Amino acid sequence: MTLLDELAALLGPQGCLTGDRVPEAARSDASRSGRALPRALLRPASVEEVSQALALCHAAGQTVVPQGGLTGLAGGANPRADDIALSLQRLAGIEEIDRGAATMTLKAGTILQTAQEAAAEAGFLFPVDLGARGSCTVGGNIATNAGGLRVIRDGMTRDNVLGLEVVLADGSVLTNLGKMVKNNTGYDLRHLFAGSEGTLGIVTRAVFRLRPLPRARATALCALETYGDVLAFLALARADLPGLSAFEAMWRDYFALNQSLAGLRLFPDPPAFAVIVEAQADTPVLEAFLAQAYEAELVADALVAQTEAEARDFWTVREGHAMDAHLPGMINLDVSMPVGRLDDFARACREAVLARFPGAHVSFFGHVGDSNLHVAVAVPGGAGDADHAVDGIAYGLVREFGGSVSAEHGIGTLKRDWLDHSRSPTEIAAMRAIKAALDPHFILNPGKVLPR
Ligand SMILES: Cc1cc2nc3c(=O)[nH]c(=O)nc-3n(C[C@H](O)[C@H](O)[C@H](O)COP(=O)(O)OP(=O)(O)OC[C@H]3O[C@@H](n4cnc5c(N)ncnc54)[C@H](O)[C@@H]3O)c2cc1C
Repeated sequence: MTLLDELAALLGPQGCLTGDRVPEAARSDASRSGRALPRALLRPASVEEVSQALALCHAAGQTVVPQGGLTGLAGGANPRADDIALSLQRLAGIEEIDRGAATMTLKAGTILQTAQEAAAEAGFLFPVDLGARGSCTVGGNIATNAGGLRVIRDGMTRDNVLGLEVVLADGSVLTNLGKMVKNNTGYDLRHLFAGSEGTLGIVTRAVFRLRPLPRARATALCALETYGDVLAFLALARADLPGLSAFEAMWRDYFALNQSLAGLRLFPDPPAFAVIVEAQADTPVLEAFLAQAYEAELVADALVAQTEAEARDFWTVREGHAMDAHLPGMINLDVSMPVGRLDDFARACREAVLARFPGAHVSFFGHVGDSNLHVAVAVPGGAGDADHAVDGIAYGLVREFGGSVSAEHGIGTLKRDWLDHSRSPTEIAAMRAIKAALDPHFILNPGKVLPR
């Protein structure tokens, strides 16, 4: 029997797709950088099936690429033609909400939005939120250590995972589904798997901590004139705004374009910086804080959302989905560095990209409260092979500014060759040693994260 026959016998016709039955979508994540269809797509429906399938692949030296919702932006879930892809989508569902412990235990293939809705129904807030919520899976969130919109309050995904179940490369199941916040019993393996992008094990179940459901939420869009004001406004918000839950900045070009694409005139004369500040508090609390900021001459103008729809408008401009169609081939970068240096980086990056590609669109926005900047670049005539040149410019500056080439999207394949801009040779050697210890046959997500 061939390996594929054995996998088909194990997983059944719904669990092992080969040939024409492998869907086109299995080629690539949302970066659209994947080209090849895998030789098979496995869709196990239980932890035992994941374990047995991996044991077979391990014995055969067959490489396996885990796939969640395929919303990743780093090429981490892209297979090569001789890989087998393993989708977690059938391993989905919420197993328990423990109200006393304020935790949710769920399977890795659960869609993030499903988890959020179940938490809200039980009176809790699921602490991870991002634009891809309707398609990404919680297993993918853990594997990429996803950030998102409310990290300033609730942390990255890893900060919210209390327990994990992971199937290792040889099929053994490592289970620690504890619900304790405090658990200092040796190495914290959760943090090894969070952010490992499917290279160390396949996440099958997790325990997330839940937060209280906010009773109120207030949102404002503020106009600021200098980056110094943005920094002072952030410091003031951290100190004096109860329930601060988002602090997002848009540089002028980004705000102007996306306001116009959304058909809105929030600030008809776009300011140097437009900042969304959100608090889990009543609107008068936010208004009192803004009055203080106004008095301190940090904020030139502010719009406070009076309805959910108005708040949604602010977020529509910030999320900027319309840009993808407007600037086909747009290059998106996700970097971080000390918050005080973000604007210096933005200026240097714009200047260097325009020197190389005159007439390019270069704009900046991001989770400034988490020192995370996104860079959107579109070069005249389409991307072509400009990606690499733009990466080189931006990541060279990131290294100079002491930052990270990936704030929240991960390394995957797209940033693999730039890892040494943010990690030392000793760190990369330690990562390789961990990989070799947990996956001695190198079958899990080969070619991802670690440079060749
Ligand atoms: C519109 C949009 C907005 C986004 N916004 C954000 C944002 O604000 N913040 C942010 O951090 N990201 C964001 N992303 C990126 C993406 O949504 C996240 O990286 C997400 O966590 C990926 O989850 P997924 O289930 O789609 O994983 P996939 O794309 O399927 O996989 C991502 C990586 O995880 C691995 N993997 C998947 N599931 C498992 C598993 N169960 N076990 C082990 N490895 C696994 C894959 O091999 C791959 O390396 C956005 C993407 C889009 C399209």
